[in-house]
Amino acid sequence: MQNVKNTIIDWLLGLVAPHLCVSCGQNTGVFCERCNSYIEKQSYGVCWCCSRPSGRNLCLRCREVFDGFFVVGVRRGPLKKLIGALKFQSVRAASFPLAYLLYRRLPSELWTLAIVPVPTSTAHVRRRGYDHMLLIGRRLARLIGCSLHQAVLTRATHTQHSLGRRSRQVAAERAYYCPRPTPDSYIVIDDIVTTGATMLAVGRALRQAGARSVYGAVVAKQPSRLGAPYLLK
Ligand SMILES: [Zn+2]
Ligand SMILES: [Zn+2]
Repeated sequence: MQNVKNTIIDWLLGLVAPHLCVSCGQNTGVFCERCNSYIEKQSYGVCWCCSRPSGRNLCLRCREVFDGFFVVGVRRGPLKKLIGALKFQSVRAASFPLAYLLYRRLPSELWTLAIVPVPTSTAHVRRRGYDHMLLIGRRLARLIGCSLHQAVLTRATHTQHSLGRRSRQVAAERAYYCPRPTPDSYIVIDDIVTTGATMLAVGRALRQAGARSVYGAVVAKQPSRLGAPYLLK
């Protein structure tokens, strides 16, 4: 309830005074140009989806699910703060720059595909007062001029933070499903990718439901624990 109240206050304040940047707190605009230019786009030698060592953007295993995979930047600095503002500080307006960053990252050939946001657990939606991925998805669909499909649903609430790679994958595979045939082509979107378990599970659910092609687009890649830099091209 507190978060719903904060969201309303945030929205009302946005009407009377422009937002200060959620990252630097100084410049105006929810996410200022300067912070935007500091987004780290480095990553190297790993699959963008699952983080396993790979000489290509997508490893062989992930290519079985995705026809292409796009990431805006590394989850550090301004980009980390921007995602945090939407997820943990009830700044709904942060969904605008997040959608815009994805829009800029996606090649225009894919603009006819339907957007499928990774479903958020009901517990998280209740706590925040909104579904942050649905917000980003709606704004992205509007920017691109394509449709948004909530084609994939979640069976149970699950939190992945404490699980290892294998357990994450097993939990994710069980959690997502398509309730009806989905024969079109889709772009699955999410905010953060770490082991790729969620993205792969959602992508597989779409494939099993008959999707012709499936692409992935994520705002931020969780940096490697070893501290090795990534290179995102
Ligand atoms: Zn800023
Ligand atoms: Zn991979």
